[in-house]
Amino acid sequence: MSDVTAPAGGSRLMATYPPQPVTFVRGEGCRLWDDTGREYLDFLSGLAVCSLGHSHPAVADAVSAQARTLLHVSNLFGTLPQREVAATLDRLIGAGPGKVFFCNSGAEANEAAIKLARRWGGRGRHVVVSAYGSFHGRTLATLHATGQPAKHEVFQPLPEGFRHVAWRDLDALAAAIDPSVAAVLLETVQGEGGVNPAGADYLRGVRALCDERAVLLIVDEVQTGLGRTGEWFGFQHYGVRPDVVTIAKALGNGVPIGACWARDDVADAFKPGDHATTFGGQPLATAAAAAVLSVMEAEDVPSRAARAGERLRREASALPGVRGVRGLGLLLAVELEEGKDAGRVAAHALSLGLVVNAVTPTALRLAPPLLVSDAEIDEAASLLARAIAAEGDR
Ligand SMILES: *Cc1c(COP(=O)(O)O)cnc(C)c1O
Repeated sequence: MSDVTAPAGGSRLMATYPPQPVTFVRGEGCRLWDDTGREYLDFLSGLAVCSLGHSHPAVADAVSAQARTLLHVSNLFGTLPQREVAATLDRLIGAGPGKVFFCNSGAEANEAAIKLARRWGGRGRHVVVSAYGSFHGRTLATLHATGQPAKHEVFQPLPEGFRHVAWRDLDALAAAIDPSVAAVLLETVQGEGGVNPAGADYLRGVRALCDERAVLLIVDEVQTGLGRTGEWFGFQHYGVRPDVVTIAKALGNGVPIGACWARDDVADAFKPGDHATTFGGQPLATAAAAAVLSVMEAEDVPSRAARAGERLRREASALPGVRGVRGLGLLLAVELEEGKDAGRVAAHALSLGLVVNAVTPTALRLAPPLLVSDAEIDEAASLLARAIAAEGDR
């Protein structure tokens, strides 16, 4: 193993990540290989990004064909794949008709949503209310929307106009919405916060409250979107129609792309010149996204994620040392029994050839590719059992 005290990946990278224990050089489906040729089963998918698995041939073909056709001309001119992707997203979201703004990441998708909410609200009505335990990105505005005060401190002062309330507390939300509020911004399952679903009662209550106070409901589906939870979008579990939806991670299966969708009457608040990006929506990224969505529809990934998620949940729940499993579809957290450290279990798992991460100090996140097979789930469960047992031996 390489020297873990050396800065991540080499001495000239900023140390924004903890030391990286392995270096991956190749991936195929649910498998990864490191620079020593060792094979791993990937149950993290690059943080819920590679939902179709690594090196998916349809995505690889689309990217290489587009690279030989047209990479980029700027948004001053029309290009093709972005129109198709926008139309497909609008159809899959099913709360429209609406329109899409393309960008390059989840944080940028949320930035676009926040700016859109401010433009829609008008002067004096600009506050965005989000929940404690949330994660919405690392830019200054999305960092402030992220309800984790410990992450804010060293970057103060943060942009004005953000307010936080307790997660799944409707009374707290009702108290926080005054006439300065333009929007409520929530994940449908808090991902980075520990894989905590909003639940139908809460999200329906939030929708009713937003209607009553005439504020926008923005759902951050950056991690939950595109089949991960067993529906195309997390909000579809709860029968709620959001006004704005942000998407990123899985949309390019590893090619960077983000999207902010809004219902027509909200989207129309943006006028030419209000918001822009050099790369957003460019042909390479949207060609990848078009291929991703087409494979996802052909494979019916939401149903596959729901079925595979049931199997994974059942097997993980039965393992010694596991207190419970929570989440939706193939976005699961395995809560360990008292005294077991999730970080150490994740490290044991990696040394056994299974990639997972510690989403809290006591819980592991499982987010395999949505095309994962039953045999791969069984294999991961047995590796996980060994990793948990190894932690117990300490
Ligand atoms: C990952 C994530 C983001 C940020 O996305 P980036 O592409 O890292 O900027 C925002 N919201 C949620 C819910 C996420 O999981």
